[in-house]
Amino acid sequence: MSPTDSAGQGPALLTASNLQKSFGDHQVLKSIDLQIGKGQVLALIGPSGSGKTTVLRCLNGLEIPDGGSVCFDTGPSVEFTAGTTQKQAQVLRTRSAMVFQNYNLFPHMTVLENVIEGPIQVQRRKRSEAVAEATALLARVGLEQKHDQYPHQLSGGQQQRVGIVRALALKPSLLLFDEPTSALDPELVGDVLKVIKELADEGWTMMLVTHELAFAREVADEVVFMDEGVVIERGHPEVVLRNPQNERTKQFVHRLL
Ligand code: ADP
Repeated sequence: MSPTDSAGQGPALLTASNLQKSFGDHQVLKSIDLQIGKGQVLALIGPSGSGKTTVLRCLNGLEIPDGGSVCFDTGPSVEFTAGTTQKQAQVLRTRSAMVFQNYNLFPHMTVLENVIEGPIQVQRRKRSEAVAEATALLARVGLEQKHDQYPHQLSGGQQQRVGIVRALALKPSLLLFDEPTSALDPELVGDVLKVIKELADEGWTMMLVTHELAFAREVADEVVFMDEGVVIERGHPEVVLRNPQNERTKQFVHRLL
């Protein structure tokens, strides 16, 4: 029998088991287990420093956990040990793509070049095909006029929409959003959240680290609350955000909602 996600919505797309990660003496992740079902939207919440970003980075092969495993339904699957190399961890990027808090666009490349870089250089796709797809994706998020501009010529909200398009252009099975709106001026947050909501409605599988609890409630199928490197509580947004069972979750959501 294939594993099911905790919301019971079908086979898990990704299963992370017993993830552990220390930086020096500081154990940032203490045996994290997470599953996400195909088409599911999972919001990861918790105090600053609780390890949320590190979880996403481990799932995407940007950090190498000290132990545990990350397995996609049809592969790849990585068992982490002290000897795991960056190259071995990076195979996870064949299935997931990350949208970063600070966009992480290449400053010396135009918008279009930023988007087609991964498909052409990493996935070895034809340039004409990559350009056509990038053009369609940029139009989708309202940036059809911006192909030839450089990141510094765009607003933060526009840069983040390029960041989202760059992730989509890789055709991942799983989108990872690391606080995608926290660097934005408040008036620019809405445009980016709108794009994320549309992607969720289209059935993209996504894991979202966010402080926007109202948005998490609107978009997520499941909310996971982390504190000090441990998953404290997980469940339906109405339960975790409105009627949390754990005292630490209660304190956190009451401060923010
Ligand atoms: P969150 O996303 O919940 O705010 P993070 O995963 O960013 O938490 O960080 C968890 C802890 O790990 C923090 O104390 C942070 O300072 C530490 N940390 C994260 N990345 C590194 C790193 N590369 N080197 C040292 N410490 C790190």
